[in-house]
Amino acid sequence: MAKRDYYDVLGVSKSADNKDIKKAYRKIAIKYHPDKNPGDSQAEENFKKAAEAYEVLGNKDKRTKYDQFGHAAFDGTGGFGGAGMNMDDIFSQFGDIFGSAFGGGSGFGGFGGGGSRVSKGSNLRIRVQLELSEVVLGVEKKIKVKRKIKADGVTYKTCSTCNGTGQVTRITNTILGRMQSSTTCPSCGGSGQVVSNRPSNADSNGLILSEETVLVKIPAGVEDGMQLKVSGKGNDSAGNGIAGDLIVLISEKEHETLKREGNNLHFDLYISISEAVLGVSKEIETVTGNVRIKLESGIQSGKILRLRGKGLSSINSYGNGDLLVHVNVWTPKTLNKEQRLFFNQMKENENFIPSPEKGEKSFFEKVKDMFS
Ligand SMILES: [Zn+2]
Repeated sequence: MAKRDYYDVLGVSKSADNKDIKKAYRKIAIKYHPDKNPGDSQAEENFKKAAEAYEVLGNKDKRTKYDQFGHAAFDGTGGFGGAGMNMDDIFSQFGDIFGSAFGGGSGFGGFGGGGSRVSKGSNLRIRVQLELSEVVLGVEKKIKVKRKIKADGVTYKTCSTCNGTGQVTRITNTILGRMQSSTTCPSCGGSGQVVSNRPSNADSNGLILSEETVLVKIPAGVEDGMQLKVSGKGNDSAGNGIAGDLIVLISEKEHETLKREGNNLHFDLYISISEAVLGVSKEIETVTGNVRIKLESGIQSGKILRLRGKGLSSINSYGNGDLLVHVNVWTPKTLNKEQRLFFNQMKENENFIPSPEKGEKSFFEKVKDMFS
């Protein structure tokens, strides 16, 4: 897959100055920080990508090179490979971005001081199962979601434990001196606010469970295991925070006759020996309707016919995949006397003796072609 443009990754324009770039990166790093998203590999991936982008755009020399040559500027050069950075690199980079308050690796504490901290409700995850035809065409799904929302009449006040910062600072004396560490406030869970008036049906955060129907637009070409995010449809946050997201996990139902491989579809076609010898016209089921194909007389078992564009559209919309029809010649397993005699007579007949022509690819060559 092509590498994403570093400016896009950070969401800044090409003319952005160093301050804007730093600001943009800081925002993304906070959002996707692993401490905030435990176990979420997508968040970690975003976090790493942003760090990689900042590593280049935040450095005057590297940025000039990148503007000139793109990603190629860093291919194969030492120190900064295409494979990305490891977490230690990223954390050591933090020192100059977030100031000394952010101790390397000590956690996520340092961000509280600015007062601009916004708490976010938890994400909800839901699995959606799609038929192959829905994957091919794209689909809008109405999904019933149970999410926590603020109860009617709930009011909040500033948390007195953390004075609204959502963080508490602890000072410990160690042999190395006084160590300061910050953790999420235990009274308000990091939101900076606690319930002042709680309706009887609400939980300790002033939230109630409600069922909502969410419309999810699923683009054509999604794959099993992909995740879509619907912003703001997760659980509400207590106080004046923002709602979490609804994460939609795509799962694909297997089709009865069509097998998917990336954007291509595979179909196993069985024809009789007579059809192979004489030629035949066959109707093939595709996800967008049936198509008729003609098999020439003398077609070989193992031949793969490619129906261009009859596969899936790419999610990046770079054209369509193909439908690959695998021809299998069915060999009869039982014969009557007459048929046995016929085939016995044909055994030594020169028309029945295999003589693959040059240019007729073997099975192994065909397989090689398909993956190249
Ligand atoms: Zn608090």
